[in-house]
Amino acid sequence: MVKKKYIVGNWKMNPLTSREARELFSAVSRRIKKTRNVVSVVCPPSVYLEVLGQKKSSLLLGAQDSFYEYDGSYTGQISPAMVRHSGAGYVIIGHSERRALGETDEVVRKKISKSLKENLRVIFCVGEKERDAEGKHFKFVSDEIENALRGLKPKDFSSIIVAYEPIWAIGRSAKDAMLPADMHEMVIFIKKVLTDMKGAGVARTVPILYGGSVNSEIAAGILKEGHADGLLIGRTSLDSEDFSKIIAIANEL
Ligand code: PEP
Repeated sequence: MVKKKYIVGNWKMNPLTSREARELFSAVSRRIKKTRNVVSVVCPPSVYLEVLGQKKSSLLLGAQDSFYEYDGSYTGQISPAMVRHSGAGYVIIGHSERRALGETDEVVRKKISKSLKENLRVIFCVGEKERDAEGKHFKFVSDEIENALRGLKPKDFSSIIVAYEPIWAIGRSAKDAMLPADMHEMVIFIKKVLTDMKGAGVARTVPILYGGSVNSEIAAGILKEGHADGLLIGRTSLDSEDFSKIIAIANEL
């Protein structure tokens, strides 16, 4: 059986109108009709989820964040139940751009826990700001994983996808993205952290994605030599042609 790859687009705070969002979604949907070996997901701003959820497409939907309470007096927040009702099945939690606004590991932990209760699949982001020769980034990443996933039951891990996004590689030119060999090393490391937490059987089921300056030129290398189970893609997910090309590449691997 072919293990499906995950290609996830994070549209961030784009595009500016619902019409553009529908056009982008439709343009990708049209291009990816026969890509059965890939789970393709886009995460638009939450105001567009409902309207995009009404479109018939093999492109799945995710939110870019959701709060750790079910409902109540939390101005500006969106609950995982709302995400679920909007038609999305995925949610990104712990993206570095949210952590930069003050989101702590503890907040990430609570958000993950609540999202799982709403049967959302969580794309849980981790990644260091910088690397050094002593390899402190490994400890940084293992702390992020342990702090956010502690307390989960083994069965919860079937709804967890880890997205390794080194912050130094996000939003740069593709030549600054991570090298496939370094990604392979990180995949092995994250699997080991998960194995130490919950055993090899559980760790094996958790897909590990890479994110950071991916485009169609480097996608195959990261997936093949980097042994990533998929990609989390920012800027390139706004380019329907290149994003669809990456999905086609992943489908052929
Ligand atoms: C991201 O911020 O999740 C990301 C991967 O961005 P980009 O692809 O634009 O580097």
